Amino acid sequence: MTSGPATPLATVGDLLRASPLPMLEARVLLCHALGWRRTELITRSNEPLGAEALAAFHALEARRIAGVPVAQIVGVREFYGLAFEVTSDVLIPRPETELLVETALDAIASIPHPRILDLGTGSGAIAVAIASARPDARVWAVDRSAAALAVAARNAAKLLDPARPGGPITWLRGDWYGALASSSQPAPEFDTIVSNPPYIAASDPHLDEGDLRFEPRGALTDESDGLTAIRAIVAGSGPFLAAGGHLWFEHGYDQSAAVRALLAASGFENVRSLQDLAGIERTTGGARA
Ligand code: GLN
Repeated sequence: MTSGPATPLATVGDLLRASPLPMLEARVLLCHALGWRRTELITRSNEPLGAEALAAFHALEARRIAGVPVAQIVGVREFYGLAFEVTSDVLIPRPETELLVETALDAIASIPHPRILDLGTGSGAIAVAIASARPDARVWAVDRSAAALAVAARNAAKLLDPARPGGPITWLRGDWYGALASSSQPAPEFDTIVSNPPYIAASDPHLDEGDLRFEPRGALTDESDGLTAIRAIVAGSGPFLAAGGHLWFEHGYDQSAAVRALLAASGFENVRSLQDLAGIERTTGGARA
């Protein structure tokens, strides 16, 4: 009696070929399921995988097919070269938001011990990236979501040097400047205020598509025309911005002219918009007279 050849066990190569997901996503999920580094997918591509590993990958794959964002499945997203924890309580950091970080860093480049405020910090991506690049900066960050602030504080604990001269980030819960006004610690005047607020108009059909369906709706839309938060942050900035201090926003692809008009109407100087890597005016700001 002869026995047929044993059924070959699946390898990572087999799994990647069979997956309906885009290759990059399948690779990220496979590394997460196996606890492997990306290079191991190549060096160990012919290694047979055990049943547990297969089941782990297929469970993650099924969540992605159901629409859950990859960053939420693996619990991490890289932003500004740092690995941020991500949960369903926070907006997933986007590459275009690195432009806001770069712009804020430019604005404070020649200021020793600059004071920075991040309004609507979410995962803390902007605040932590600035604090990491400028260890001497004193950073304050506000969010109305306690769950988001918990994620942000964990990111700071993981990613920042506890001995940084600027000290720990001050996390405050509340609505925009209201959080500062009600804080027991008196807020300084800031050299730069940054915000990536909810700016998608409630009528925008993108809210019901893709990853956005799984992100906190309050981080995405003002349930109005998309400019409510930006109006409030411009209008209330006076007492919190040092003379000559900068206010910079990320905003929607079609909002740059509206944001410039809001800043100019409030007396901001040198108001301008900057293009992201896709050539879209994504960031607008100015300096307080
Ligand atoms: N940039 C995000 C998007 O369009 C929106 C982020 C925000 O509203 N702040 O998916």
